[in-house]
Amino acid sequence: MNVAVRAEKLESTQHAADPLDHLADKLFHKMGTDGVYARTGLYEHVVERLAALITQHRETATEVMRFPPVMNRAQLEKSGYLKSFPNLLGCVCGLHGTEREIHQAVARFDAGGDWTTSLSPADLVLSPAACYPVYPIAAARGPLPQGGLRFDVAADCFRHEPSRHLDRLQSFRMREYVCIGSPEDVSDFRDRWMVRAQAIARDLGLSFKVDYASDPFFGRVGQMKAVSQKQQSLKFELLVPLRSEEQPTACMSFNYHRDHFGTTWDIKDATGAPAHTGCVAFGMDRLAVAMFHIHGTDLAKWPAPVRELLDL
Ligand code: 5GP
Ligand code: ZN
Repeated sequence: MNVAVRAEKLESTQHAADPLDHLADKLFHKMGTDGVYARTGLYEHVVERLAALITQHRETATEVMRFPPVMNRAQLEKSGYLKSFPNLLGCVCGLHGTEREIHQAVARFDAGGDWTTSLSPADLVLSPAACYPVYPIAAARGPLPQGGLRFDVAADCFRHEPSRHLDRLQSFRMREYVCIGSPEDVSDFRDRWMVRAQAIARDLGLSFKVDYASDPFFGRVGQMKAVSQKQQSLKFELLVPLRSEEQPTACMSFNYHRDHFGTTWDIKDATGAPAHTGCVAFGMDRLAVAMFHIHGTDLAKWPAPVRELLDL
């Protein structure tokens, strides 16, 4: 047995194989941390074509914004993130001391010690979802017009949930359409998108189901929040059976936040009532992984209608 084969065998006995593992070589390069990968040209090409397809479905009068992978820490705190998912948050930190203190930290590292004990938090966190920054921006514009506002947003998102599964990344791309308006504006928006998104998934040749869902709220109180979220039908997901029918992967979500962000940011609808908000989120990396898993890694062999749809 040569060294490479032995190493591979060792690895496969250390980690149970996953049904998506066959994609790794063609789509990703390892970067030293589970759930954080460099992407190949083949993979990026499909991500770009999927993004273009989602753009084609953008409703009229939708304002485009693109966010960086970081956002203001105070804004995320005010949004209530720490009450719901404190365990998933990544916070930017840095060496903020005096020149002397920074030299000392580096000297500790040079001597084989731990420099990170000198870190302190910056006023930035890694964005855990693409839509958080849009609410304070909308709030600053004053009362909403009749019919509300619609946005097309995207960001690289971070969630601290290391996993070896290729559909559970720590750093992944999220695209969202967001509606801020009256309760009717938002529920109509979500209903339209739930129909449209299923048509997109069908056109992409994905098998899927749409089901009630809840967010992975932290802790025991969080479990109660999740039950109430399901009871009130606040979240639906488009689920694609990638590794099994029993544990399908959420590739899109359809969220109704009621007046949470409207009240938090003091956004008023055209009647002066707290605005309601909702979003449809597309997991770009999950959609791409799903496409390769279902249609294979040779684009030339993808079904003709899918190739045509994506202009591949
Ligand atoms: P949500 O805010 O509903 O949890 O996430 C929105 C979408 O982002 C999900 O439907 C999914 O497609 C994508 N997403 C969430 N978590 C992950 C993850 O760990 N890895 C990847 N690749 N995508 C994720
Ligand atoms: Zn959102």
